[in-house]
Amino acid sequence: MRFVSTKGNSQKVSLEEALFAGPAPDGGLYIPETLPVLSAETLDALSGGSIADTALTVAKCLFDDDLDSTTLESIVRGSLDFTIPLVEVEDELFSLELFHGPTHAFKDVGARFMARLMGHYLKSRDERATVLVATSGDTGSAVAHAFYGLDGIRVIVLFPKGRVSALQQRLFTTLGDNVFALSVDGTFDDCQRLVKSAFADPELADQTLVSANSINVGRLLPQTFYYFHLFAELPRASRDSLVVATPSGNFGNLTAGLMAKRMGLPITRFVAATNVNDVVPEYLASGDFRPRPSTATLSNAMDVGDPSNFARILWLYDGELDAIRADVAGRAYTDENTRATILDVYERRGYVLDPHSAIGYLGARDHRQKTAVFLATAHAAKFQETVEAVLKTPVPLPPAIAACAERPETITEIDASIESLKGFLKP
Ligand SMILES: *Cc1c(COP(=O)(O)O)cnc(C)c1O
Repeated sequence: MRFVSTKGNSQKVSLEEALFAGPAPDGGLYIPETLPVLSAETLDALSGGSIADTALTVAKCLFDDDLDSTTLESIVRGSLDFTIPLVEVEDELFSLELFHGPTHAFKDVGARFMARLMGHYLKSRDERATVLVATSGDTGSAVAHAFYGLDGIRVIVLFPKGRVSALQQRLFTTLGDNVFALSVDGTFDDCQRLVKSAFADPELADQTLVSANSINVGRLLPQTFYYFHLFAELPRASRDSLVVATPSGNFGNLTAGLMAKRMGLPITRFVAATNVNDVVPEYLASGDFRPRPSTATLSNAMDVGDPSNFARILWLYDGELDAIRADVAGRAYTDENTRATILDVYERRGYVLDPHSAIGYLGARDHRQKTAVFLATAHAAKFQETVEAVLKTPVPLPPAIAACAERPETITEIDASIESLKGFLKP
């Protein structure tokens, strides 16, 4: 597979190059030059079962030229060792539960695949590497868990001291082994600045520093797998006029869905469901894309005012608004809508939604033709305070998360200077 830049002014690169590169040299994002199309027979043969089996069928089409089948199988099975159930919440309206991985959020899928793919290439080059990641919560825990225990790679998570929720923090400070947590005396922006400076620092040139941020192709591509999986899990009679709603922030998840459609998956329409950070729904309505600072909401992983994957969506459709509109409906919802939905779905169906999945549910309900699926992106207990305040009933933590509250934290404190970070990286 070859990758081109969305800006069109960079050399084509291989999967391995795109994986370790971050953005393209021209400032665009890498995207596959062409996507393989799965035959009708292959699609028809997909049937319910494990996500790993379906993912392997799709992965073989995507990575045929890049990886031998034994390697690919071990990467896919190693990443997707948890279930992704499709639950019928009400008649012909399904929840795809992407939150059964180690950190109980959908980012586990992409992060775990990326980690194993990087591990494979580093091993074949006989190199060791350091993953540097700045976090305000969610990303740090997904990335730390994804690389945890992998040979030859250490992960350093930088987080702003005292500004990450206790639960989120414990998810990456209690792992140990090859995961190191640095508490930075500063803000999230300071953490990001330190990571950027480290990549640019000549004194660190002898270290293989790797970034694992959300635009990485190693995270984007495996997100196509679960769109095929939801199709495979649906009863055959429910596969026509299928609408899929994606609760969106940076739009990686939706981009992967649109790529799956390009690969032949018969999804009739997508719903880009957002909170009040609605630059994409607004673009679909008016044709104007106006990025702006984000507004804080209950669905905070979707508080994005300038979604980077929008460039990939435009590229996929050659910038043609009407073509995008044919495939994607946009819809924004308020915190008020979110709370009311969490309560309503619990009271009517006994199903507990987190604030992000609630927005997905609304998009699916409001735009369904016949069957609709929404992506449930986080376990409700990760947003315990909000959900319990609405439902007035306890929402218990999953055992794996509860367990890490018992383990001791290991944290190194540094000030917000590149010298302190270097002191840690090169003792
Ligand atoms: C990251 C995230 C989203 C948004 O996904 P994008 O790919 O950035 O659009 C939605 N829900 C949860 C829980 C997330 O962590």
